[in-house]
Amino acid sequence: MPELEQLTEHEINLLKEFENQLSTIYAHEKYVSKITKTITKIQDLVKKTFKRTGKLDELEKELAEDIIRLKSDILSKFKILDEKVPRKEQLLWDERRKRKEILDIYAFTRNMYDSLARGEEQISKTAAKKSLMPMRRYLRKLKAILEEEERGITLNEHITVLIQKLHQFKESIKNAIAVEYRLLDAVKLNNPFANKEKKLQELEDNKKRLRTVVSQIKKTLRTEKYDVYKPLMDMLQKEIGGALEFSKLKQQKKLITLHDIKADIYTMTEPDEILEYISAIEANKELVEEGALEKILIYKLKAKELSEKTKKQASIDTLTKLFTRRVMRAQLDNLISLAAGRQQAFSFILVDIDHFKVINDTYGHPTGDKVLKEIAKHIRMNVRGSDIICRYGGEEIAIILPRTDLDAATNIAENLRKIIGTSDFYSTDNKKLNLTISCGVSTYGPDGVSRPDIINAADRRLYRAKKTGRNRVVNTG
Ligand code: GH3
Ligand code: MG
Ligand code: MG
Repeated sequence: MPELEQLTEHEINLLKEFENQLSTIYAHEKYVSKITKTITKIQDLVKKTFKRTGKLDELEKELAEDIIRLKSDILSKFKILDEKVPRKEQLLWDERRKRKEILDIYAFTRNMYDSLARGEEQISKTAAKKSLMPMRRYLRKLKAILEEEERGITLNEHITVLIQKLHQFKESIKNAIAVEYRLLDAVKLNNPFANKEKKLQELEDNKKRLRTVVSQIKKTLRTEKYDVYKPLMDMLQKEIGGALEFSKLKQQKKLITLHDIKADIYTMTEPDEILEYISAIEANKELVEEGALEKILIYKLKAKELSEKTKKQASIDTLTKLFTRRVMRAQLDNLISLAAGRQQAFSFILVDIDHFKVINDTYGHPTGDKVLKEIAKHIRMNVRGSDIICRYGGEEIAIILPRTDLDAATNIAENLRKIIGTSDFYSTDNKKLNLTISCGVSTYGPDGVSRPDIINAADRRLYRAKKTGRNRVVNTG
């Protein structure tokens, strides 16, 4: 399941609207039984009419009024069924088409790349490699875009299918309502007071037909409930973290008991899920049974402890999707032992964002996080696939470059510095930001240095880059 931040505002609204429309349709379920009851009432009326002769006009009027009321009731209740949402769907389809185009370009480039690679033997190897380089870079960029977009495609498809189903569903209910209408007309036009036996039989037939329609609708509702409603609710709950549930509860001013909370927590397996749930509960204090919050404190602490433990063991940083420091250490050790005794250099770049604190202080932490993610993305797209990029600390990123000497690594760092320095970043409220980075570069020498030495050297040089004015790369000293 994609995370919340990957859903656009539009998609979230669409899901919410979809849910509202569904609940209106489900209201129909209650309504259909009302129609059966009315038919029964009409039957009783007919039966009585023959007992109390002389009052035919009055009863006939009453019956006609009943039917008119019923009809307008149907119309007002299901007005929504006539409304269409083509523009929104169109937007979704356009979005999908765009993403499909990216996929096509990707496939096309991939083919070109493959044929070029196959021809490598015929042309000179270096020439082939040279022409492959920009292609590879392009592919890598596309792949990074796709990796992000692909999850979006699944989600969009999901929503589009749901909307299509909703339309089918609306259509079937509309048809059912049309049948009900015809039945009501039949009841009225047949004038139930003319011929007792025949009319009662006709009414009975109508009632049977109506019952079939009703049971069909109920059946559809039941299957659709599973088919459409369930995945939608699952999505909503996962995507917007139960916010909807809470807003409903809030409206109803219902109290969440300690028992409910515990029951919920016992269904959860991930510590982060528990933490998220508890903070949602905490944010809705007024709905929570008195004393319950204190009693779940122990769950919060345990979940926190567990979450931190798993994070420490993790190899991917959740915010930037870069490798963690743990991976960095292991990779450095690995490269040191591989290179031992051989003339094989590898390099290390430590990147630190300049004046990052100002970004946080001016635009808020979410903007800081966003910028950090984007910088990680820029770096990922502009180094080789074999380079290992790790989140070293808060806003510090380490890059391990196998088979790369100091000059080459310095060039790469310089390139990154220029790219980031000339890129536009945006705050969460869409203000344009410009940022720079400083880099310290170190290289593993054939004489053999230890892992701390490589890191220390890069760190020292980064510090000098900061001291001498920032927005620069330092590789000596
Ligand atoms: P300098 O140019 O000297 O590096 O200045 P700076 O402000 O970038 O340096 P400093 O180390 O003083 O501050 C780093 C800031 O980065 C402080 C911290 O709040 C922020 N930071 C670290 N990690 C994260 C993060 O994950 N998200 C956000 N939004 N900010 C972070
Ligand atoms: Mg720093
Ligand atoms: Mg900094």
